Amino acid sequence: MDTRCAGLKADGTRCAAVAAASGFCRMHDPDPAVAAEVAAARARGNTSAKRTPSAARVRTVTAADLPFGGEPKTLDEAASLASWIVQAILTGKVDARTGREATQAIQAVKAVIATRDLSAHKLAALKAELLRELRGGQP
Ligand SMILES: [Zn+2]
Repeated sequence: MDTRCAGLKADGTRCAAVAAASGFCRMHDPDPAVAAEVAAARARGNTSAKRTPSAARVRTVTAADLPFGGEPKTLDEAASLASWIVQAILTGKVDARTGREATQAIQAVKAVIATRDLSAHKLAALKAELLRELRGGQP
């Protein structure tokens, strides 16, 4: 019995892959269930290299290593933490993906702090205006 796949490649030559019990390799198996599995794996980008991210490449730090414990309360603290993240990426303290995620997170934190500070500033201005009105419009 031929152990090679009975399928044909795009150029019309015989597939050289080892055949399963069906007589075909997974790529040429006419069984719709197998074809669906192959398509799903492709859609997930599941090559063996992508499926097994090397844990050794992931580098993180603990909260104790981070400025402000990683929880900046002001824009200045957020900017300092962002600078620290840049340094951590460039010196290899964290891996590139961790650095990217941290950079995105710090952008979100900065936006929230900026909005909060602007709201507080507007509220203070409105309070001052209201007090002037209550005192009879004297500036
Ligand atoms: Zn084949």
